[in-house]
Amino acid sequence: MIVGCFSRKTRVIFDLHSHSTASDGVLSPRELVMRAAAQGVQVLALTDHDETRGVAEAEEAAREYGVRIVPGVEISVSWSGRTVHIVGLYIDTHDAELLEGLRANRSGRVERARRMGEELAKIGISGAYEGAYLLAANKELISRTHFARFLVGEGHVKDLKTVFKKFLIKGKPGYVTHQWAALADAVRWIRNAGGVAVLAHPGRYDMGRGKMDVLFTDFKAAGGEAVEVVTASHTPDQVPIYARYAQDFGLRASCGSDFHAPGEGGRELGRMQPMPVTCEPVWFGR
Ligand code: AMP
Ligand code: MN
Ligand code: MN
Ligand code: MN
Repeated sequence: MIVGCFSRKTRVIFDLHSHSTASDGVLSPRELVMRAAAQGVQVLALTDHDETRGVAEAEEAAREYGVRIVPGVEISVSWSGRTVHIVGLYIDTHDAELLEGLRANRSGRVERARRMGEELAKIGISGAYEGAYLLAANKELISRTHFARFLVGEGHVKDLKTVFKKFLIKGKPGYVTHQWAALADAVRWIRNAGGVAVLAHPGRYDMGRGKMDVLFTDFKAAGGEAVEVVTASHTPDQVPIYARYAQDFGLRASCGSDFHAPGEGGRELGRMQPMPVTCEPVWFGR
């Protein structure tokens, strides 16, 4: 049976990672909150990529639906030649330094998207930039997901999962390298905005044990306080591995579905395996 990730004491169901149309989700913040409520989620973090503009609408809807919103963000970071994601939870979405950092991260996306379109055109797929642009509700936030939806919609690829095997990743057509924020900057913006920095879905990063240890060491040194242990990106085998990392590095544990869209192959809101008992949840004391 699939259950939510809940507090052992109060049985409140938490989902601390989700996306709306403010980034690459397909539901508006209001629709997302409605769906979360219908799925029994009681505490929902909206964590759009490099963007917090959806939080106000989510908070307004949450008051109607009896859901609690944790203001959040998912910051794209370049670390040691790779992209990693740092989620910020409990942030002040009006913090000037954070907003400026996010704006800077977003500003490179349009040029990146144009180049992605050019790369795809080289292999005979035309109109990808324009297609992705039309699919992005937030024009400052064109992501690879919008390109992926375009490629599926045009019949080039059968589903999103296949897109990210054949296209848009390192070494495949449509991939372009990009410089995101530095790890230490992203963590500092989150902390100075009163938030908790969470290393997102570590199991998704293609790196060996040695490199992963360095990532955790750098993250901790920068002021990172938590790691996603339970996430749709982790297989059941990976959950105890990252629960162990949390213990070893003195990090709290977070859980989130990383929900983007109904029926797109990702996990439903709130539907996750329970947090391992050894973990100290990120929501303790909040
Ligand atoms: P970007 O920030 O533009 O590089 O886009 C990253 C987004 O692409 C992620 O947040 C996911 O939504 C999506 N993505 C990356 N890899 C996959 C995958 N294997 N399957 C589905 N979506 C993916
Ligand atoms: Mn995404
Ligand atoms: Mn992510
Ligand atoms: Mn995400």
